Amino acid sequence: MRIAFLGPPGAGKGTQAKLLASELRVPHLSTGDMLRAAVKERTPLGLQAESTMKAGKLVPDALVLDLLRQRLQQPDAAKGALLDGFPRNVAQAEALTTFLPLDRVIYFEIPVGELLPRLTERRSCPACGTIYNLRSHPPAKAGRCDRDGTELVHRPDDREEAVRTRLEVYNRETAPLLEYFRSKGLLSTVRATGSVEEVQAAVRAALGRRS
Ligand code: AMP
Repeated sequence: MRIAFLGPPGAGKGTQAKLLASELRVPHLSTGDMLRAAVKERTPLGLQAESTMKAGKLVPDALVLDLLRQRLQQPDAAKGALLDGFPRNVAQAEALTTFLPLDRVIYFEIPVGELLPRLTERRSCPACGTIYNLRSHPPAKAGRCDRDGTELVHRPDDREEAVRTRLEVYNRETAPLLEYFRSKGLLSTVRATGSVEEVQAAVRAALGRRS
C-alpha cells in the first residue's frame, strides 16, 4: 500500500504514521526525519538543508525528491510505503506520480488554534523518534524518553518563530494539495483532535480497516 499523510505541522502525523506503518509492515518514510538525520550526520545534503529547516521553510524539491527516490529503492519499500511530510507542494505531488503513485491520502484535520501549543510543547527522542507533549503526553521522568532513557530534545523548528513560518508555508504551499488529491478521488479526512487511540481508530476506519 502506498499512503501519504497530509496535514499541518503538529497535527499528529508522525505519531500515527509510526503506528500504522508497523501495522501495515511498510516503512514509515518521513522526509523531515530523513533530512534531520542528514543534518546530524553533516552530509553535503544536510549542510545544504540545515538553515532552511531551522527557519521553517521548505528545502528545494530536487533535494527532497532525490532523497526519497533513493530511499524507495531499498528492499523494505518493495511492498509500499507510508509517506509522512511528503509531498509538501503540487510540484512534489506531480513528481511522485512518476515513481510512487499513491493509493490513498489521509488528511489530518485540526483547528489552527491547537497547533502552536502542540508544537512549542512538543519534545522528541532523538534516538527512537517517540514524540511527547509536555502537557498532554509528558514522559514519566522529566526530560527523558520512556523507552530508552535518552534526553529529549526540542526541535529548533518547534520554537515559536519557526512554527509561525511553518504554518504560513503550509497554508501557502501544502494546503492546495487537499483539492489536488480530492479531485483525484484519493483523499480521506480524519479528525486529528482527540487521543492517540481515537485518531488511530479514525485512520484505520478511513482505510477500511477494523479497529
Ligand atoms: P517535518 O518533520 O515534516 O515537519 O519537516 C521538517 C522540515 O524539513 C520542514 O520544515 C522542511 O524544512 C523540511 N522538509 C521536510 N519534508 C519536506 C518536503 N517534502 N519538502 C521540502 N522540505 C521538507
